[in-house]
Amino acid sequence: MRLTRGIDRARQIRGDATALSYGTLNLTWHQFGDRVARLASVLRSLGTGEGDRTSILAHSSHRYVEALHAALWAGGVAAPVNSRFSRAEIAEMLRDCAPKVLIIDDAFLADAEAVLPELPERPVLLHAGEEPAPAGWLSYEAVLAATPPIEDAGRGGDDLACLFYTGGTTGQAKGVMLSHANLCTNALNISGPVGLGEHAIHLHCGPLFHLAAAGRVFAVTVFGGQHVVLPRFDPAEVLRAIARHRVTLATFVPTMINSLLAEPDLEAHDLSSLRTISYGAAPMPETLQRRLMEVLPRCGLLQSYGMTETSPVVTMLTREMHDPALGKLNSAGRAIANVDLRIADPDDRPVPRGVVGEIQVRGPTVMLGYWHRPDLTEAALRGGWMHTGDGGYLDEDGYLVVVDRLKDMIVSGGENVYSAEVENAIHRHPAVAECAVFGIPDPVWGEAVHAVVVAKDGEELTSAAVIAHCRSLIAGYKCPKAVEIQAELLPRSGVGKILKSALRAPWWADRARRIN
Ligand code: ATP
Ligand code: MG
Repeated sequence: MRLTRGIDRARQIRGDATALSYGTLNLTWHQFGDRVARLASVLRSLGTGEGDRTSILAHSSHRYVEALHAALWAGGVAAPVNSRFSRAEIAEMLRDCAPKVLIIDDAFLADAEAVLPELPERPVLLHAGEEPAPAGWLSYEAVLAATPPIEDAGRGGDDLACLFYTGGTTGQAKGVMLSHANLCTNALNISGPVGLGEHAIHLHCGPLFHLAAAGRVFAVTVFGGQHVVLPRFDPAEVLRAIARHRVTLATFVPTMINSLLAEPDLEAHDLSSLRTISYGAAPMPETLQRRLMEVLPRCGLLQSYGMTETSPVVTMLTREMHDPALGKLNSAGRAIANVDLRIADPDDRPVPRGVVGEIQVRGPTVMLGYWHRPDLTEAALRGGWMHTGDGGYLDEDGYLVVVDRLKDMIVSGGENVYSAEVENAIHRHPAVAECAVFGIPDPVWGEAVHAVVVAKDGEELTSAAVIAHCRSLIAGYKCPKAVEIQAELLPRSGVGKILKSALRAPWWADRARRIN
């Protein structure tokens, strides 16, 4: 299995069809393939050998997508940098993965200049911006035009293809090593439910340094569909791009769907081409699911549960499974093809149906390991199963219900409280825009359920009203003991996940928590 084979195939069968649209630019598969093969040639001439990393620090663009493919075409490894990282984190990541070449756009030049002197080995710099290349930098377009294309290096199978850093939701991001076979298998596994194929037009508006978006890029290439790339998530731009390019597929995280539904002139856009909206990567409040179904009744919804370490998809709640009559909307669906899924206790013994334990995954999409971290790899993959750190249970029909990250689970008076369940209840209050629930130290109960809530613009909300609302929906011990009403939005990770760890940390500053 070779990720770049999709380019050869698409050139052969639909060379003049559009491969990629970005702004007003449209590249055919012939043009895209040619640019990838030239860029690969550039990477080679700059010293990229087998397994050498190419890093990219940029907003999404056609060049970003080209670079992801060219790194592999050259026989190397794509190692995108989280562009929302602080300079210290960027330096840390570049030191960790030591790329031969760093591709950067105008937005991150100043960051690069600040960070590069700190690196033990300076990568070759390729400037992929619109402004002229600064001194000491090679211009992406100039070298591309001057370099003849090369053949694909032919790496594939278990060879390392990509190094993706995890979301950093629970701590420091880790470099996840994914092979060609890992990512090709993910593409095959999701192709049926997603509806991938030559006629799929996929909108990529999430950050390409994150596997949720980049995994889709590779999957679309494997099946020769069309990429529509936006530089960043902007709700109005997303709606315009769907209408302009007749987009059939799009992927979002739940917070993005929240902003899309809040767009004032949502109905004014022609969204009739959309066949499927994919969402996942974080818990999705049921109220949001239902609103999305109301607003786009003809568009299928598809939820994925997964993680960087599993390339990423593990389970899917397909379009059919979203039928409210089935009663499965609280679940993340069932294991997709080629995935072994089990729920186990802390001693790795499988637990019966309906019992909450750790979600564990085995099969050809599980990562090769964490880059330079044999200790973490050994712990995560012990016994041949990927230990996800997520709590969940399988229902009688084999649907997976993800209850919480084990680290976010609250143990109050000996009872387990799943923060996601409490958040779901709070979200049902019509004045709530955002919320996060976590455990804080409590002298009597060990941990107390605590909520931070942001009200919708112009809405009045009190702590007592939120608690009373919860009491009407969930058991007393699950209800927040205290609710902070906060004016500003909650802190988010680079991919838009709410950083509960950041909200929780100050409460635990002077004492140890069960799991930190
Ligand atoms: P880090 O591992 O660095 O803390 P992260 O776990 O957020 O960051 P990712 O690999 O991006 O990094 O995210 C995977 C996690 O996202 C899963 O382990 C799970 O907790 C959460 N997740 C993914 N999909 C879903 C879903 N459909 N429902 C609930 N949670 C989900
Ligand atoms: Mg994780």
